[in-house]
Amino acid sequence: MNLENRICPICDNKEAVSLWNGYVKCVLCGCIYVKNVKSVSYEDNYYYFDSREKERLDMRAKKLFKILSKYVKNGFLIDYGCASGEFVNFAFKNGFEVVGTDISSYALKNADSNIQDKLLLLDDFKKKFNKKADVITMWDVLEHLDSPIDKLKELKPYLKIGGKIIISTPNVESFWAKFLKKEWHGFNIPQYHITYFNKKNITKIFNSASYKCISVYSINPMSPLFLIKNSAVGLTRVIFRKDKRILYAIVAGIIFIPDKILELIAPFFNFAETLIVVAENN
Ligand SMILES: [Zn+2]
Repeated sequence: MNLENRICPICDNKEAVSLWNGYVKCVLCGCIYVKNVKSVSYEDNYYYFDSREKERLDMRAKKLFKILSKYVKNGFLIDYGCASGEFVNFAFKNGFEVVGTDISSYALKNADSNIQDKLLLLDDFKKKFNKKADVITMWDVLEHLDSPIDKLKELKPYLKIGGKIIISTPNVESFWAKFLKKEWHGFNIPQYHITYFNKKNITKIFNSASYKCISVYSINPMSPLFLIKNSAVGLTRVIFRKDKRILYAIVAGIIFIPDKILELIAPFFNFAETLIVVAENN
């Protein structure tokens, strides 16, 4: 898929300012997107399955399940973009009836054996699946899409009236994104992450697709230590820029604050890198 000369995927505006690595920012809604996307493919090596990564994905699944359970207690759940199924498994073990779907057969094959019969390749899902869900989850998918509004519309028939859709996506207005700019790990993969949101414009896409937004907020799906590890490369580059030394001193100070305290103060500094949206099909 080659996408050339994209216009704003949120508000269809053509005017945008150039940022870096091919990213531009819409002057109207603030959406950051890749202007020209060169063929996007998700080869097997896009997915990692070493034990450390597995542990991280399980931790993330647990945290995301906590969010889900605030809004939906039980019923039928579709996890759209489930990759190797850690969240599907967690929801299944906690009493949900589940189906997960993904474009990668490689990722699905790497899911635990107890949920293999609950996973469908996206093509099969589109062709064969027609059962309506109480909740659709879509963790870290929207930023990969050229047209997020169309995807949200496409999912409506799979959701009961009154059913919930819960998504996560990088928060482009988080502290780290704004501080590290092009060095932010979220901006390092323009071939995959092609559309970014803030709280305001993500609300807009749900409204455009005729969902009712119930809640929009940001979280850290990982521990802050992981976040810092993720930002370390960008951080090192920032350190060696003379004009950023004072800022580095501040950030370096943050690194040595214990985990628990960082969790407590993070909301006040918008460290939370991930946006969560809970919306209802009406
Ligand atoms: Zn826009």
